[in-house]
Amino acid sequence: MTHVLIAGGGIAGAVTAMSLHRAGISSTVYEAYPSGADDVGAFLVLFHNGLEALRTIGAHQPVLDVSFPAERIETLSHTGDSLGTRPVSGGEAAEGAEGAAGGRKLLGPRTLRRATLYRALHDEAARRGITIEHGKRLVAAETTEDGRVRARFGDGTAAEGDLLVGADGLHSMTRSLIDPDAPSPRHTGQITVCGWAAGMPPEAAPAQGTYRMIQGRRAFLGCTTAPDGEVWWFANTPGPELSKDRLATDTPERNARWREHVAALFAEDASPAADIVRATGDGIFTSNAYDVARTPVWSRGPMVVLGDAAHAAAPNAAQGASMAIEDSVVLAKCLRDLPSPGEAFAAYEELRRERVEAVVERSARINDRAVPSAARGRGNNRPQSADGSAGAVGSPGDEGSASADGSPGAEGSVGAEGSAGAGGSAAAESLAPSRKTEGVRVPEGADWLLHYRIDWDTPVASASASTPTATGS
Ligand SMILES: Cc1cc2nc3c(=O)[nH]c(=O)nc-3n(C[C@H](O)[C@H](O)[C@H](O)COP(=O)(O)OP(=O)(O)OC[C@H]3O[C@@H](n4cnc5c(N)ncnc54)[C@H](O)[C@@H]3O)c2cc1C
Repeated sequence: MTHVLIAGGGIAGAVTAMSLHRAGISSTVYEAYPSGADDVGAFLVLFHNGLEALRTIGAHQPVLDVSFPAERIETLSHTGDSLGTRPVSGGEAAEGAEGAAGGRKLLGPRTLRRATLYRALHDEAARRGITIEHGKRLVAAETTEDGRVRARFGDGTAAEGDLLVGADGLHSMTRSLIDPDAPSPRHTGQITVCGWAAGMPPEAAPAQGTYRMIQGRRAFLGCTTAPDGEVWWFANTPGPELSKDRLATDTPERNARWREHVAALFAEDASPAADIVRATGDGIFTSNAYDVARTPVWSRGPMVVLGDAAHAAAPNAAQGASMAIEDSVVLAKCLRDLPSPGEAFAAYEELRRERVEAVVERSARINDRAVPSAARGRGNNRPQSADGSAGAVGSPGDEGSASADGSPGAEGSVGAEGSAGAGGSAAAESLAPSRKTEGVRVPEGADWLLHYRIDWDTPVASASASTPTATGS
């Protein structure tokens, strides 16, 4: 019986294990971090397509149970005036309407903390008897003489299986084991800062189910109110890629510096943004935003990548988690239905590549509208910005640019579209017309993105016979 090693116990890792289990294939998940997922900050939005993919394997309910609906987006200007309110794409689900997908009620969009999502998926995987081993960082892998794969971990241990699925995220080791020339992530020129503000007066907090997007003069803040009244916020600030140390917010002093830095970006505005940031205690989370436009090779021999390891989108489209979930279910189906791993990997790639690259492109486009070209990153998978110079906004811990320059990003540089999810710019934004960029066609409208449906019961055809599609598999 086939046994699959899964490197990475994030979203794709746990969902791949459950999907394989449903397909009758056993697996073990090896997660680098020693304990649970408590250290993965931020919150995110899962759209209907991601939740629908979870429904395919019967794993949507635990996620619905720990999340709350995202229904509408209200945009405020830097003066605090409302620029209008509109539904989040797919938000009609939360309003109780029937969705366009087969008349079934739409499941999303839903908001939840990333750590909560990890925990819900881990608990559900464990309930199904799946083993997740912690403290196992994949550092190498080789094909054995009999065509199996041996994975080696940082703690000196090893494991053998028939296949190795790299669900090891943005900085994937599996991606470079498959192709040493694989591109590394590009910094998009944005730093995302998130926090949780307690005790806000009701007039300063968005109504339940509303994402309030505040277009400040120097940065952009999005926030929503959790059922317990806490205001969850994220701010997108243009700036150069920061080192791990400079991003860290693990001490009260660092938290305070980031809080003051972000609050200062909104201090001259008349919107509630600065007050929301100042009402935040510890637990501020900061991250560089990255993407990987194209990973040319997704599989080699018994190894394959999925989720962020295969195609990372900038957070702006708020679709990375949903794409990881979809990938996981489709890969499991392919392994279930096709006679050899090589055929399964080819069919999986054919079914997924066009769609995920369109999402990466769409996210990059939203990001690029929000970031001054000077702040964009210098990763090796995209053309560099013309001058490639440092970002426009410094940040605490980034002594080199923050205090030296101190000048905020160009006014009006912040994206105009509504966003949802930490750092995300929801699929709710008005969509740019279809265009070809770097060979990727981004379809018009949002249906292709949100109403993707995986038919678990219909067998997958081999790659040559299957039709690549952005609308379903
Ligand atoms: C600020 C921010 C906001 C976002 N907002 C949204 C949003 O609103 N909606 C959305 O859909 N997406 C959002 N995303 C993107 C989303 O979080 C990712 O696309 C998603 O987590 C990808 O899932 P994954 O399982 O591929 O990778 P991850 O969730 O990153 O999981 C990878 C796992 O692999 C482990 N790992 C890494 N290396 C190794 C190794 N060598 N060996 C073993 N284990 C390893 C990691 O510890 C981790 O647990 C956001 C991202 C950020 C940064």
